[in-house]
Amino acid sequence: MAKIYITRQIPESGLALLKKEGHEVVVSKKDGVLTREELVSELEKYNPDAVLCLLTDKIDSEVFDAAPNAKIFANYAVGFNNINLEDADAKGVTVTNTPGVLTDTVAEHTVTLMCALAKRVVEADSFVRAGKYEGWGPMMFLGSDLKGKTLGVLGAGRIGTRVAEIAHNGFGMSVIYYDIKHSEYIEKGASAEFRETPEEVLKDADFVTMHVPLLDSTTHLINKERLEMMKTSAYLVNTSRGPVIDEVALVNALKNKKIRGAALDVFENEPKLAEGLSDLDNVIITPHIASATDETRGKMSEIVAQNIIAFLKGEEPLNKVDSE
Ligand code: NAD
Repeated sequence: MAKIYITRQIPESGLALLKKEGHEVVVSKKDGVLTREELVSELEKYNPDAVLCLLTDKIDSEVFDAAPNAKIFANYAVGFNNINLEDADAKGVTVTNTPGVLTDTVAEHTVTLMCALAKRVVEADSFVRAGKYEGWGPMMFLGSDLKGKTLGVLGAGRIGTRVAEIAHNGFGMSVIYYDIKHSEYIEKGASAEFRETPEEVLKDADFVTMHVPLLDSTTHLINKERLEMMKTSAYLVNTSRGPVIDEVALVNALKNKKIRGAALDVFENEPKLAEGLSDLDNVIITPHIASATDETRGKMSEIVAQNIIAFLKGEEPLNKVDSE
């Protein structure tokens, strides 16, 4: 029997799997993110054999040192930019994530944001609630169609490909994409055309959607210069990680109508928003909920538990993160 420390309450299904294997499960009692000091102190107190952590936990050598017996840190997310992989390697810690199970859900949220932007759903809803609706008008809330438009995908992995498939097969959009490598999946599934640089996507796309992981190479992938390359009629959607967009530059671009609108599920300094962002009508903001459905969060809970169970049995966990 091993002791598993969980940094915050997650859906019960994964916890049940861990208990069924005979493991002891300790869940943080705090209703919120543990501070660095609290996390270190909890790990020192419980001395677990495995840690189940969240994307809001910053994990590095200080944290690994606080749990010397825990040679697996299983992240409850597909992104793992919250974990210092070099430190994990140095300490001999295995890191796992939860890819795949959230692909459809995040893609659906992304497409929801694209539609809401194009059809001005949030603006129009606020207008009606404010008591401003006095009857149908031919020029009221004119938006944009998706059919026939070009979707630009930056990062054509699992989620980017699924978004492209829905946009192409469901809405009749053309798809262009940039990735560090060609993808036969997006090319077959969405008849997508590869572009050699992000710039070539940005200048031609009517909708740009971000699906890269957060890395040094993707930080501020969208900056002032690249925003200026976009069409003034274009929309930008980000459900990946906040720092892939320079949020201050985005606020300026939206204020100055350099692009038509943006929708963000993630923020550069989460949960803080760049100054002025929430005052803008042409932006939709959701609180990092792209994977938040009953079904998906339940599956993530099971996968994160299965990774821990396999590791503790001496097996290779299914979703080991490669540090290279
Ligand atoms: P994935 O690994 O399948 O796809 C990422 C793609 O980005 C890969 O094809 C990779 O080659 C490409 N890439 C890497 N570096 C690049 C670069 N410099 N330029 C262009 N492309 C580059 O990952 P996924 O499952 O599709 O998830 C993508 C990201 O979405 C995750 O890393 C995570 O941060 C984010 N995410 C967010 C939420 C949310 O709740 N908002 C939920 C799930 C995932």
